Amino acid sequence: MTVNDAQFEYDLFVIGAGSGGVRAARIAAGHGAKVAVAEEFRIGGTCVIRGCVPKKLLVYAAQFSDDLAHAGDYGWTIAGATFDWPTLRDAVARDVDRINLAYTSTLNTNQVAQYLDRAEVTGPNSVRMKSTGQTVTAKTILVATGAWPIMPEFDGTEHCITSNEVFGLPTLPRRVVVAGAGYIALEFAGIFNALGSAVTVVNRSDAILRSYDIDLRDRLLTLTRARGIAYRFHATLDRVEKCADGSLLVHLGDGGEPVPADVVLVAAGRRANTAGLGLEQAGIALGHRGEVPVDGDGRTACPSIYAVGDVTDRVQLTPVAIREGHAFADAQYAGKKTAVSYDAIPSAVFSQPPLAAVGLTEAEARRQFAAIKVFTSDFRPMKNIFSQRVERGFYKLVVDGETDRVLGIHMIGPDAPEILQAAAIAVKAGLTKADFDATVALHPSMAEELVLMR
Ligand code: NDP
Repeated sequence: MTVNDAQFEYDLFVIGAGSGGVRAARIAAGHGAKVAVAEEFRIGGTCVIRGCVPKKLLVYAAQFSDDLAHAGDYGWTIAGATFDWPTLRDAVARDVDRINLAYTSTLNTNQVAQYLDRAEVTGPNSVRMKSTGQTVTAKTILVATGAWPIMPEFDGTEHCITSNEVFGLPTLPRRVVVAGAGYIALEFAGIFNALGSAVTVVNRSDAILRSYDIDLRDRLLTLTRARGIAYRFHATLDRVEKCADGSLLVHLGDGGEPVPADVVLVAAGRRANTAGLGLEQAGIALGHRGEVPVDGDGRTACPSIYAVGDVTDRVQLTPVAIREGHAFADAQYAGKKTAVSYDAIPSAVFSQPPLAAVGLTEAEARRQFAAIKVFTSDFRPMKNIFSQRVERGFYKLVVDGETDRVLGIHMIGPDAPEILQAAAIAVKAGLTKADFDATVALHPSMAEELVLMR
C-alpha cells in the first residue's frame, strides 16, 4: 500500500539506523513507502556496531582460554599458547565493518535514503539535520534512537570507559574494574578474566543480574569467584584517580582499600537516547527515565510520531526492537496489524559460563500462582569430566502445580543460550511438564537434562 503524500518529502522518516530502525525502514520501503533514515554514527546501531555482535566475538575468544585449559586433559599438548589483543580487536572491527556494509546495502537495495547525520525533531512532520541544517519533512516519523550508557556522577568519570569504548582498547588491560553487576558488567568481567586480566566487579548492592532466578545468580557468583573474579559489594565508585604513571586508582564508598586498575568500565545501565532530540517540539513529554512513552501500536502522544526499541524503555533487547520495527511497518504500510508479544521472551547473559532463561523465575511464579512445582538438576557437564575444575551446571524448571504448565526455564552451564532458545518455544507454546517428560532424551547431551528432571 503506497501512501506517498505530495505534501511531504517522505512517507516515513526513521531516526536511528539500529536494529529497530533498519527493520522498520526496510519493511516499510518494501511495502511501497518512500523512506529515509538518519544515523549519526554508523548504520547498524548498538547491537551490530558496539554491542551484541562484537561482544559475542569477544566471548568466543574468551572461551578459547577454557578450551586450552581443558585440552591437556584430552591428550593435547599446546605449547606456548599466547593471546594477542590487537589481533582480536582488529578482526572484530573488520567484522563490524562487514556487517555495517551489509546493513547499508540492504537499505540501498530497498531504496531507503540515508542521511549520515544527526536528525532532530522540529515538529510533528519535520526533522532537521544537525550538521547541514537541512529540514526534511515526512508524513510519519519513527524514533528508533536506542539507548545510551548511563555514567553515574563521581570524580574522575573522564578516566572511565563504557561499553561504547571497550572494543577499541589499545592494549589488553592488566587490571580491570567493572562497575555494575548487570548484563554488560558480567559479560565483560568474564571476557577480561578469561583473556588474562585481573577483574574486580564493584556493585552498589550485593545483587547481581537482578532479573534472573536467584539460584542462577548464586551459581554464577560462585563459579566466577572460583575463576578468579573479585567482587566488591555495597560499594559505589567515589573517585577514580589518575596516577603519575598513567594507571588508575579506584576509591570506593565501602571504606575499603582503593583498587588499582588500568581500565575502569562503567556498566550501570542504559538510558533512552532522547537528549536534545527535540521531541517536545512535537508535544511529546518524555518519561522519567527519558523514554518516549508509546501506546500498544508504538504511537506517541503526537499522532504522526512513533517509536520502537530501547528508546521506549520496554524491553532492551535487539530481537524485541526488530519485532516492534517490523510490526510498525506492517501495520502502517501494509494494513497488517501484528501485536508484539512481551511474554516468554528468552534472554541470556554471555558470562563465563553463560546463563539463560525464559518465563517466570521461581520467586515470580510463587507470587503469581497458588501452587508451583520446581524441578532442578545440578550436574557436572560431560565436557568438564576430566577437568580439575569442578564447575557444575544447574537447570531449573518452574511449573504451575495446578495445570502442569511449564512457567519458566532457567539454566547455567556451557551452551545454555543455545539450548534455551529451543526450549523457549515450549514455554511460549504453553507446554506442560508431562510434555517434557514424554520427550525422549537426546543422549549424551547437556540439553537432555531438560527432559530428565523428575
Ligand atoms: P543492567 O540494567 O543489566 O545492569 C545495570 C547494573 O548497574 C546493575 O547492577 C545496577 O544495580 C547498576 N546500577 C544502575 N544504576 C547505577 C548507578 N547509578 N550507580 C551504580 N550502579 C548502578 O544494565 P547494563 O548496562 O549491563 O545493560 C543495559 C541493557 O542492555 C540491559 O538491561 C539489557 O537489556 C541489554 N543488554 C543485553 C545483553 C544480552 O542480552 N546478553 C547484553 C548486554 C546488554 P541494581 O541492580 O542495584 O540496579
